Formats: sequence, C-alpha cells, structure tokens
Amino acid sequence: MTKLEYRLIACPYCLDEVERLVFQVIDLNEDEDLLERLLQKKVNAYNCLNCGHEFVLAQSLTVIAPKLHLIVRYDCDFVQKMYSRTLLQLPLSPAAADFRKRQEELAVRENEAIENGEIQTPTDVALSRLKQALPPALTDEDYRTLSETAHAGMAEFNATATSKSLIQEYPGYVYRAVTEYNDLIEKLQIFRQNLDDRALELIKYVSKLSSAKNDGEQAIKRLYFVQADAKHLVFLVYRVGGWDYYDLPAETYDNTSLYKDFFTVDNESEFVLIDEVAAAKWWKAILQASEIADKEHND
Ligand SMILES: [Zn+2]
Repeated sequence: MTKLEYRLIACPYCLDEVERLVFQVIDLNEDEDLLERLLQKKVNAYNCLNCGHEFVLAQSLTVIAPKLHLIVRYDCDFVQKMYSRTLLQLPLSPAAADFRKRQEELAVRENEAIENGEIQTPTDVALSRLKQALPPALTDEDYRTLSETAHAGMAEFNATATSKSLIQEYPGYVYRAVTEYNDLIEKLQIFRQNLDDRALELIKYVSKLSSAKNDGEQAIKRLYFVQADAKHLVFLVYRVGGWDYYDLPAETYDNTSLYKDFFTVDNESEFVLIDEVAAAKWWKAILQASEIADKEHND
C-alpha cells in the first residue's frame, strides 16, 4: 500500500524549510503513473521556491511493483549504518561549501561554452550537462567497500520488521535491496523491460574489467543500465572527465544469460543485493569452471 506523509523538509542548498509530501512506500498497482515519475527521478524531488534549486531527497523508499512481482528497497538507515561501519564519508551534501563551489564552476564553464558557440541546441546543452555532471558520489574503491559491507549486513536487513512484513505480505516476489537511490531507478528500468538484473550486473562488471584493461585513463568507472532495444543495450557511463552514453550489441544479453546457473544468491526468498560485488563473485566462478573444462578437454 502506498504510504506518504507531509514533513518539514529543508532545501539542501539554502536550508529554507517547507512542508512537503514525502513518499515512503509506492505501490505501483495503486499509482501506475508514479513509475514514469520515478524513472524521471521526480519522486521525492522538489523545486525550492526560495532559491530555485531542484533536489532529490535521500529518503528511504520502498517500491512495490505487483505486475513485475518485484520489491526494491532503498533504506537510508541501513545505508548510513553501512557508511559508519566502513568509516567512509557520506557523500557531500549540496549544502556543503565544496559542493556549491563545484556547481558554480560547472555553471561558469557552461556559460563559456555557450558564448564560444560550442553549445547551441537544447541537445548540446543536455549532452554537455551530462558530461559535466558531478562524478559518482563514491570512488570505485569506496563503492566496493560499501557494497561488501552491505552484503555482510544483509542478514540484519532481512531481520527488520519492515523486511519481514513485506516478504510475508508479498510472497514469491523478487526482493532487491539497493544502497543508492540511482540503483533503485536502475532496477525499475531493468525489470520493466523484462530483463534479468543479474545478467546486466555481470555485463556491467565485465565491461568495466575490459575497459580497465584497454582504455587506460579513460576507463569506465561506473555504469547504469538505461534501456534495451532490438539492437542495443544502452548504459550511462562515467569516465574521468564526465558522463556519457555507451552501448553494446543486444546479443550480449542473450550470451550472458547462458551463464544463468552461475547467478547464485544467498536466499532468493529474502532481500538480496545484486550489484558489482555479486557479479564479481559469479565471474570468478565462471572463469574457474571454464578452466576446469579446458583442463578436462586437454587431458
Ligand atoms: Zn533553496
């Protein structure tokens, strides 16, 4: 059941407080149009009337998608607990001076590019913003550290009353936990296109490995699945210097799905974290199995 409430929310840029509607649980059977809003990051997103900035709240959010038999949970308390365990710094909040300084530098660069005629059409503007958008909140290494800690904490996550009651109320669903709001959006993108997030995580992981080997300074640091069509899988990728799009032939998905027996999870009847760290484990198992097969073939 969709759950929402009004809360006093401070704008992270100017700290102006306004009472705003905050979604905690979204049941897509009740509010189907919310899926589009979620995918556009317009849920728990606000426009500050005082300073004009737009912002998305880092609030806990559970999305129940009965047609997809899927529940995705982004739990802020859990994520904060994991951050404190790893001793990692929480990503810069927009109210931090450093964050604002970086935003201002980006705005100055954009104006220069417009004046120099490098940016002309709305598409140029969008692409240029995408390229200059802030890097992912966590470095590669920190992202992995956080993920490993979260994997170790999944028993705790599943022991909470919220997790238990969701599993009881929606038996036989696919249950996913995520550690970033962007991951929640990505999961919805994947499942609504009837794809398997495990195959996509493996594709993302192998793409990163091969990019680290071949692209030197321009290696891919982060990828998010965006969409699939008959010919392509499209990802949003971050490399040093900015964000961009990256695509792979659609067959990659079918070829990767052949390994589905390796896509093991701890307990499919509970919430699991399917991310790069999970994919790294499957990849290791796949390599081992192929080494054994090669050896048997040669014997
Ligand atoms: Zn504001």
